Amino acid sequence: MTVPTFAHYNLDAPGSRYALNTPALVLDLDAFERNVETMAEIMRAHGKNLRPHAKSHKSPTIAKAQIAAGAVGCCCATLDEAEVMAAAGIAGILITSPMTTALKLDRLIALAGRTPDTMVVVDNPANVEALAARAAAAGIRLNVIIDVELGFGRTGVASPEAAVSLGETIKTLPSLAYRGLQAYGGHIQHTIDPDERLALCRQAHLKIDAVISALAAIDMKPDIVTGGGTGSHAIDAREGPFTEIQAGSYIFMDAEYETVIYQSGTAWPFENALFVQTAVISTNVAGAVTTDAGTKAFALNGPAPRVASPGLDAATYSYAGDEHGRLHLHDAARPSIGEVIECVVPHNDPTVTLYDQYHCVRGDKLVALWPVLARR
Ligand code: PLP
Ligand code: MN
Repeated sequence: MTVPTFAHYNLDAPGSRYALNTPALVLDLDAFERNVETMAEIMRAHGKNLRPHAKSHKSPTIAKAQIAAGAVGCCCATLDEAEVMAAAGIAGILITSPMTTALKLDRLIALAGRTPDTMVVVDNPANVEALAARAAAAGIRLNVIIDVELGFGRTGVASPEAAVSLGETIKTLPSLAYRGLQAYGGHIQHTIDPDERLALCRQAHLKIDAVISALAAIDMKPDIVTGGGTGSHAIDAREGPFTEIQAGSYIFMDAEYETVIYQSGTAWPFENALFVQTAVISTNVAGAVTTDAGTKAFALNGPAPRVASPGLDAATYSYAGDEHGRLHLHDAARPSIGEVIECVVPHNDPTVTLYDQYHCVRGDKLVALWPVLARR
């Protein structure tokens, strides 16, 4: 496969933003940099650390920009992400899902050998024993974080008693270093009603407080309490038991989060920074034109892409096939063949993973290409 590179593109030329190999992933660097700084400022104001989630961007360049603005490292959802970030020299990696297969345990131990401050979440005693045995065999101490379930029903220990029981197991295993707790409420992030979101956060905080107390009683008070996402960051930083926040999507502000903002009537300080650029390929249908970005160009587990190009405010987007999109014009003027259209990504994380690189723009110029290095 040929991925267009610097050699294919006329960087810094006026209008070069609109001469890309569509469908193309486009990152508006000015908006992105403001988002990075805004979240860093919010965390500073509340005295919290930020360990942003790299699942959103899968790019060491972006993780480094966040760290330069004050982040303490990055979270990773997968081992591939963690290996890529570590290889780029990024410290302070927390793997936020349990690693359970033999292959992954081996890779994790090798990674922790190379990057000793790597942390991984655990929620199961057999997994803890397996990790400890491999760490001991490799002669290392592996940092573990107890994952706490907050009502989403995904991963984590379900009760303070279960946390204590897992803590007791960890205590007996000298090849493990207990670092603290993770508690991430995936069900909270996109809650539209602000009062309901606040109530869900407070419910979660009470549960985490109970786990912290139970662990403190066995001399395992957590140093790190990590969690929270873009949807809950303001509440979690203001009043939660967290020492650090894991928000990821804030750097891009996708259509899914945008919908939450519009519908909740609240204002958030982040701007749309990530777009998919598509081009018109046919104009023979009444009320619509056809584009080159369909279901292979956008993640499908979110709202429709939002059309962001000037003059197309009234237009809406739907999918017309794997490689085809349909731009419903409504009152908007009909774009012509070859015209380039930009859409706010529907759901950022799984859209990014469809692309090899970010086309970084400032104004109407293409200024850099950043690879999406950890596609799995
Ligand atoms: N932490 C964990 C464990 C997650 O799974 C996610 C996202 O799915 C995040 C943090 C980041 O959340 P968001 O992208 O909503 O900021
Ligand atoms: Mn997501």
